[in-house]
Amino acid sequence: MKPSRFNYERPESLTEALELLNIASAKGLEARIMAGGQSLIPMMNYRIVKPDLVIDISRLLELDRIQTGASGGLVAGALSRHSTMERSDLVAQHFPVVPEALQHVAHLAVRNMGTIGGSLAHADPAAEWPLLVRLLDATLVVASVRGERRIAASDFFISMLTTAIERDELLTQIEFPFLPDGSGSTFDEFSRRHGDYALAGVGVCLTAHDGHVRQARVALMGVGDTPLRSPDAEAVLTGQAWSEDLMQRAVEQGCAALTPRQDLNASSDYRRHLTAVLMAQTLKTAWSRATGAAQ
Ligand SMILES: Cc1cc2nc3c(=O)[nH]c(=O)nc-3n(C[C@H](O)[C@H](O)[C@H](O)COP(=O)(O)OP(=O)(O)OC[C@H]3O[C@@H](n4cnc5c(N)ncnc54)[C@H](O)[C@@H]3O)c2cc1C
Repeated sequence: MKPSRFNYERPESLTEALELLNIASAKGLEARIMAGGQSLIPMMNYRIVKPDLVIDISRLLELDRIQTGASGGLVAGALSRHSTMERSDLVAQHFPVVPEALQHVAHLAVRNMGTIGGSLAHADPAAEWPLLVRLLDATLVVASVRGERRIAASDFFISMLTTAIERDELLTQIEFPFLPDGSGSTFDEFSRRHGDYALAGVGVCLTAHDGHVRQARVALMGVGDTPLRSPDAEAVLTGQAWSEDLMQRAVEQGCAALTPRQDLNASSDYRRHLTAVLMAQTLKTAWSRATGAAQ
C-alpha cells in the first residue's frame, strides 16, 4: 500500500525542527518525526498512521553522538543508529549489555538505519531499547519550544506504542548513569527466527559484594504493554547471599504475577514459561559476571 498524502520537511537544526512541531501542533495537524524511518514508513504504508506532516530529522547531526556526560554517565543522542551503539567502544566499555542486546534487533540493514530515539518513541513492548533503558535506569530528555523535560525511563512508557512525549516534543538524548562497581549484566531473548521481535526477553544487572547481591535489576519485555521491571524478583535477591535456591525463588516470585498477553505467536502460559527460563539463565550469567568484576 501507499501512504496517504503528507507534507515533508527536512530541517537543518533542532531549533527549526521544534518550530515546525510547534506550528503543526498549534494548527491541530498531526506531525510525525522521521528518524530512521524503519517503523514509521511501514506504519504509513499500512495507513496505521496518516500524518499531515513528516519532519525528517536525519540532518540534525547534533543528535547523532555518543559521549560521557558532564555529570558522569553516558549520553547518546536520539539519532544514534543501532549499529553505531552496537559498535561503540565507549558503550561496550561501560554497558556491555547494550551490544549484547542489540545483536537481536532485526538485521544489519535495519540496524544501520534505525535509531535509539526512534525505537524508544515507537515504544514496541517487544523491542530491545525500551527494555535496556528500563534496566539501566536511563533518563530521556525531550525538547520543545517551551523548553526541555527530563523523564525517567520508568515514567516514559505509557502503554503499547504510547509514550510520555507530547505532540510538540522531540526526544533529543538519552542519559545512562554508570553502573556501580562490582556489577555484571546480561540480556537474552527468545524469538522464532533471529531478527524477529522477541516473544519474551529478560535483562539483568546484579551488583555483587562479599557473596551478597547488593543491588538487583531485572527487566522484562514481551510480557506486558510496556517494558517492565520485576520488583518481586528484585526484592527476593537484594541484600541476600547468592545461592541456586535464592535464584530459583527470585524466578518463581518474579514470574508468579505476570499476565502476558496471548496472541497468534504464543499463549500467555508459554510467554510466562519463556520468561522464567530466560530469567534463570540471565541471573546466573549476570552473577558470574558481577563476581568476576568484583574480584
Ligand atoms: C524488518 C524489521 C524488523 C525489525 N525488528 C526489530 C526488532 O527485532 N527489535 C526492535 O527493537 N526493533 C525492530 N525493528 C524496528 C527498528 O528497530 C526501528 O529502527 C525502530 O523501531 C524505529 O527506529 P527509527 O529510527 O527507524 O524510527 P522511525 O521509524 O523514524 O520512527 C518511529 C516512531 O518514532 C517517532 N520518532 C522517531 N524519532 C523520534 C524522536 N527523536 N523524537 C520523537 N519521536 C520520534 C516517529 O515519529 C515514529 O512515530 C524492526 C524493523 C524492521 C523494518
